[in-house]
Amino acid sequence: MTGNDDQVAQLAKEHLETANSNVLFLQFDELDGAGHKFGYKANNQDYLSAISKVDKHMGMVLRSISERTNINSEDWLTIATTDHGGKEKSHGGQSPEERTVFLIVCGGNVIEGEKKLCSRNYSSSSNGSTSTWN
Ligand SMILES: [Zn+2]
Repeated sequence: MTGNDDQVAQLAKEHLETANSNVLFLQFDELDGAGHKFGYKANNQDYLSAISKVDKHMGMVLRSISERTNINSEDWLTIATTDHGGKEKSHGGQSPEERTVFLIVCGGNVIEGEKKLCSRNYSSSSNGSTSTWN
């Protein structure tokens, strides 16, 4: 599904109302654009507004899943992550701010609150813009 983030969310909603897919992949890209424009800073109101917008889109998608006609006989696994963090107004480097990402998994056989970590320890970013596991 392509388009701006509003279109991606709307198309996903419509798809979830009418179609049966084994996998649905969505990418909300406008937050990255906000990071480039305003900086990847948790204390920047424009960047926070962009985060809120993605949160609303994710809420719309998750609500659409929960309202599916056959939801009681379906087994959804939802994974949310990002492909990178950011530093100042860029990314692609090796800093923790750029390389630390969050991973949210729910549904399926996921056990609430359980964390299974890779062999590496992850540390917090200094600007608070990324979530971490310890
Ligand atoms: Zn980018």
